[in-house]
Amino acid sequence: MTPTNVPSSPSGKHSPSEKQRIVVVGAGYAGLMCALRVAPYARVTLVDPADRFTERIRLHQRAAGRPDVTHALGSFLRPTGITHVAARATAIDAAAREVRTDDGRVLPYDRLVHALGSRTRSTVPGDRDRAYTVESATELHKRLQDGPGSLTVVGAGLTGIELATELAETHPRWRVRLLTEGAVGPGLSEKGRAHVRVALAARGVRVEEGRRVAGPDDIDTDVVVWAASMAPNTEVARAAGLALDGGGRVEVDTVLRSVSHPEVYAVGDSAAGHTATAGSLRMGCAAALPGGSHVANALIAELRGEEPKPLSFSYNLQCLSLGRRDGLVQFVRADDSPRDRVLTGRPAAFVKEGIVRSTVGVLKLASRRPDLLPRVPGFG
Ligand SMILES: Cc1cc2nc3c(=O)[nH]c(=O)nc-3n(C[C@H](O)[C@H](O)[C@H](O)COP(=O)(O)OP(=O)(O)OC[C@H]3O[C@@H](n4cnc5c(N)ncnc54)[C@H](O)[C@@H]3O)c2cc1C
Repeated sequence: MTPTNVPSSPSGKHSPSEKQRIVVVGAGYAGLMCALRVAPYARVTLVDPADRFTERIRLHQRAAGRPDVTHALGSFLRPTGITHVAARATAIDAAAREVRTDDGRVLPYDRLVHALGSRTRSTVPGDRDRAYTVESATELHKRLQDGPGSLTVVGAGLTGIELATELAETHPRWRVRLLTEGAVGPGLSEKGRAHVRVALAARGVRVEEGRRVAGPDDIDTDVVVWAASMAPNTEVARAAGLALDGGGRVEVDTVLRSVSHPEVYAVGDSAAGHTATAGSLRMGCAAALPGGSHVANALIAELRGEEPKPLSFSYNLQCLSLGRRDGLVQFVRADDSPRDRVLTGRPAAFVKEGIVRSTVGVLKLASRRPDLLPRVPGFG
């Protein structure tokens, strides 16, 4: 990007046609935040087939019966001048600097932001009528309405625990089991794990640890919810020749630029982000939102002809909902390893709900007053 076309201020003395073209693929937490934050400085196109933003961190609540966990994308984009292309990105031509979409569009870019997120890794598809993932939360909810039976959640990481407690609490006539290869909540402290066990038992969830299953069809149950691990959405990046790490995420430098294609940034679950204090970033909204803001800052710095700064990010909490009235706040070190300290019960549920609400709040702020966002801790 040449500094000659750089708008001198967020209000910009240049017409939109003179501005640099930034294409953001994926309107999840990371991509939407980045697009909103950089919009006053550039011509931004946001590519996502959905016309609603999904609060993915509430999908277990959707499965349990919460009526809606989405927001019209237009409510964020309206004041910004961002163009939303409601289509799926199918290819990146890195040499020509173009994104292709499934409705035949070709979108040229000066800078590309890859923010395609992740999905449940479900390598062994099961019977469609009984095997679900958290992404099919609406269908799962419908199935639970059909009548009681046995339900098995596979995988006892944070998502599996949230699903099992929420579903058992809202559907007490279903017999819920949580089955996992290792231990429940492997990343939690002893105190944290103990509280989770009590919360599961209180809702009648049967826990089976140390059980490895190959796929949904291996389990004798009416309904399986597969929550064993997450896979990054990087097929398009792989086909474009972007360097990926061993876990299939886009390999990036400390600024979140692709190590093989520096004109491409990658952020959120699809990127192998890392910082000096946090180390390798796990997939999580906790890093995706500030990461999106950071990439916007890096793009603005580039537009001004300045060198973008490395991402600065550390962990401090892991928050879990355990149904609607209980929760766990696990205090962690900067590198996400658990401390002994935890907060439990209603106060933890309250903190968790506040954090979940704040994710949409901070996106709304980025939409309406992007100039105020740097005052929010973590979004400087
Ligand atoms: C039940 C549940 C609870 C969770 N709770 C927490 C929590 O408490 N804390 C936490 O830190 N994390 C939590 N997570 C993880 C968190 O949801 C993810 O880390 C976060 O959503 C990642 O954000 P993202 O922007 O990278 O990707 P996503 O939110 O997955 O967004 C990706 C976007 O890309 C779009 N897309 C996909 N393919 C294409 C394509 N080809 N073309 C165009 N667009 C495309 C999708 O439509 C989507 O809008 C939870 C996840 C689940 C499932």
